[in-house]
Amino acid sequence: MPVIHGFELIRQQKILELKTQAKLFRHLKTGAQLLALENDDENKAFGITFRTPPQDSTGVAHIMEHSVLCGSRKYPVKEPFVELIKGSLNTFLNAFTYPDKTCYPVASTNLQDLYNLIEVYLDAVFYPRLTPFTLQQEGWHYELEKPDDPLAFKGVVFNEMKGNYSSPDRLLGEYSQRALFPNHTYGVDSGGDPKHIPDLTFEQFMAFHKKYYHPSNAYIYFYGDDHSEERFRRVNEYLKDFDRAGAASEIPLLPRFDQPKKFSYKFDAGEDAGSGKKGRVAVNWLLTETTDRENTLALKILTHVLIGTPAAPLHKALIDSGLGEEVTGGLESDLRQMYFSAGLIGIAASEADKVEALIDDTLRRLADDGIDPQTVEASLNTFEFRLRENNTGSFPRGLSLMLRALTTWLYDGDPLAPLTFEAPLEAIKARVAAKERFFEKMIHQNFLQNPHRATVILAPDAEAGKLDEAAEKERLAEARAAMSEADLQNTIHNTQELKRRQVTPDSAEALATIPTLKLSDLDKLNKKIPLAVIEKNQHKILYHDLFTNGIVYLDVGFDLHALPQELLPYLPLFSRCLTQIGTEKENFVQLLQRIGQKTGGIWTSRYTSTLLNTDSSAAWLFVRGKAMQHQLDDLLAILRDILLTVKLDDRERFRQMVLEAKAGLESGLVPSGSSFVNTRLSARFSEAGWLDEQMGGVSYLFFLRQLEKDVEKNWPKVLAALEQIRSALINRQRMICNVTVDEAHYKYFEPKLLAFLEALPLAPPVLAPAPLATWSPAYRTEFEGLTIPAQVNYVGKAANLYKLGYQFHGSALVISNYLRTTWLWERVRVQGGAYGGFCSFGRRSGVFTFTSYRDPNLAATLENYDGASRFLRETDLSDEELTKSIIGTIGDLDAYQLPDAKGYTSMARYLVGESEDERQQLRDEVLSTTAADFRKFGEALEQVNKHGIVVVLGSPQAIESANVQRGNWLKVTKVL
Ligand SMILES: [Zn+2]
Repeated sequence: MPVIHGFELIRQQKILELKTQAKLFRHLKTGAQLLALENDDENKAFGITFRTPPQDSTGVAHIMEHSVLCGSRKYPVKEPFVELIKGSLNTFLNAFTYPDKTCYPVASTNLQDLYNLIEVYLDAVFYPRLTPFTLQQEGWHYELEKPDDPLAFKGVVFNEMKGNYSSPDRLLGEYSQRALFPNHTYGVDSGGDPKHIPDLTFEQFMAFHKKYYHPSNAYIYFYGDDHSEERFRRVNEYLKDFDRAGAASEIPLLPRFDQPKKFSYKFDAGEDAGSGKKGRVAVNWLLTETTDRENTLALKILTHVLIGTPAAPLHKALIDSGLGEEVTGGLESDLRQMYFSAGLIGIAASEADKVEALIDDTLRRLADDGIDPQTVEASLNTFEFRLRENNTGSFPRGLSLMLRALTTWLYDGDPLAPLTFEAPLEAIKARVAAKERFFEKMIHQNFLQNPHRATVILAPDAEAGKLDEAAEKERLAEARAAMSEADLQNTIHNTQELKRRQVTPDSAEALATIPTLKLSDLDKLNKKIPLAVIEKNQHKILYHDLFTNGIVYLDVGFDLHALPQELLPYLPLFSRCLTQIGTEKENFVQLLQRIGQKTGGIWTSRYTSTLLNTDSSAAWLFVRGKAMQHQLDDLLAILRDILLTVKLDDRERFRQMVLEAKAGLESGLVPSGSSFVNTRLSARFSEAGWLDEQMGGVSYLFFLRQLEKDVEKNWPKVLAALEQIRSALINRQRMICNVTVDEAHYKYFEPKLLAFLEALPLAPPVLAPAPLATWSPAYRTEFEGLTIPAQVNYVGKAANLYKLGYQFHGSALVISNYLRTTWLWERVRVQGGAYGGFCSFGRRSGVFTFTSYRDPNLAATLENYDGASRFLRETDLSDEELTKSIIGTIGDLDAYQLPDAKGYTSMARYLVGESEDERQQLRDEVLSTTAADFRKFGEALEQVNKHGIVVVLGSPQAIESANVQRGNWLKVTKVL
């Protein structure tokens, strides 16, 4: 077998369905394994993964993931990771901790950029500069500034995980896995439980790195159109200095339970824990290993059959029972042994047993009486379409395949097995066609006859949060009591020293070690997306001639300006109705089955944005679909049915959707706190922002709570609103179509599309266009404190720079990128201990927003926001730093997109009236940004300090104490 730079090729195989040549190598000296997937995808990827099963919940694996990215032998700066974010063209750059592995994946379409990323990541994982201060900053430390201050725990992961443990949905998942895997590495939290993170010692931390971050325990991965030997040379440069070592990191198989188990927990639900249904329950089954590809694929399809859509029988039974609001669950297939969960959110905890019994009964009925063949066919087609389309959205395809390969590779199985799908899919289809009761038998084996199951109940509790807080205080008090005077002085000194290191900037020489591109490596011109505006028979079609492997992507858009203001909050439910309530001829189950069987999917989305140089907005509802050529007639027939014959007067089904939407929004508050704050702030400054708040923000949540009552008490009013939306919206006069596919397929499709459009209503008569509704948003100005039961805050501040005299210049994007990766990163994250601090500038709206994520602070974070303007005015910006920020900004502008996303982006530009010239001007301004622009922007931000509006989502205690300090400056609203 040939040897390339120390790597011996041990196997190669063509994977036809991915048009890929797969090659598996072993590094002769260390035993490191390397998988290379060679194909013509320009979005190249690299990853190095270590098997890192933790023994406890101190979060050592997660803290190590953060820590190795904090400086290394060749790159002795505080955070090489951030330097890369600042100045790379990467299409992906991050790191992940799983229950049993830690991945360091990168991707780029630029080969030199990819090499730079690989170089820094390899140095980071093998030669990190780990010190006690690294563990303290990224993990945990005692913070004490003055002898009389209270002692506190601080640390990035500590706070990140406090955020995690504030989300009842995450808790349900965490407790479920613990319940299924007692005394096993999967039964501890690799991310870290805030109760156990402070148990981690520096010795344990270092031992973890020594044991697991070794080439003999590494899984290295290449993907894309770079097939050079250079890649191997670069990796070998690192591996050659190691000898083979036995890492003993195997994941043991868990002995199976002989009977089911049940566990109950409490979670912090704030003061009104007792009112309403806030409990949750999940029933979990341990399944088989991931090694058998056909079995794994079958379990994925079975999961879709059971709970994948609102029409899926287990999903439907749970919702129809009225016991809860939203279904939870799915298949966990990233571990050595898979598990399945199903449950309900928004239940009375006392009714958990009823939910469990219902799940059992439903599974038994399906197994005994048989699953509706239409459901099975829909799920099979949905899966087949997904596998062939391989649409990973903005996540690089190469990395998605890496994660798939690791589901067997990590357990010494065949890494190529999970990448192929033709053979297992054909086998499953054949079994179903032969009427073997295939999925019914799987239900028997995997669920009904499987005693390895655990039921987890989460009950809301008003005291749980306070108890946790008290326990933490007590632990800190004990720690403090045990400290001698010298220890206290040491802690103070240590806190100061940590801060000193954090504020000391990297030297120019150190920064210069980070490999970067040059400005001359960047394209001077924007890449254009093909767009033809076709007007035929008064219909407007935007068409993008792009290769899509034969899939037609169609977006049918309706102008929301046709709606009177008071109807806007009903719009999201109306659009949900289009696919989920049924039509005159089909109930919603039949409709969803038909969508699954006959298309690649039909769904709805909204697009809102400020129109360039105006105060008004583009606001559209899109009904979106995708289909292969032979499915196009079906796609259009279904669209016609839902647009013309949706049956809105099904009160029961509508009620379910309201509850689901409400529960979904409530569950999202903690995980997406910053985005709720951002939406709330944007609503103060622009029509588009105001629309988003009405249809997806905190206002929308309040609307849904009222709507739930209205459905009960005043259904005719609700129904009338929905009918009014239908007649105002579904009108050819105010529609636009967007199609992405290559020309040959488009030619075939266009006459069908035109015929479809002809059949839609044209009202009122052609000669008098329907008047547009005028909206009068109320732009509120008060500062707000929005309270939720959480251990962390999301702090926001924003202003409209255009209203304050700033004129747009492309440098604003470069400067925002710089602020995010310097001032905000250092102050809000590194020193403040928040998981993140961000800023964004909406160049269409002019709104500049600061937000923080999972933040232990409130007032201090606002001070840091206010400090940004001075930082910019006084910053001594080197040419290298400026260049890096420009490169990073160009990387954002040129974000890699799959063809369907390109078509959608091009349409969005059209809808707001953005020309190619304007885009090119923006790029020119980005590329020619100077240090003087930074100072000028600093002056503009000065205005945000003075005129900015503050919105905080966070714990009632934090908001209250901020109000005490500053004299009720936040208007308090209880959100949850
Ligand atoms: Zn993290």
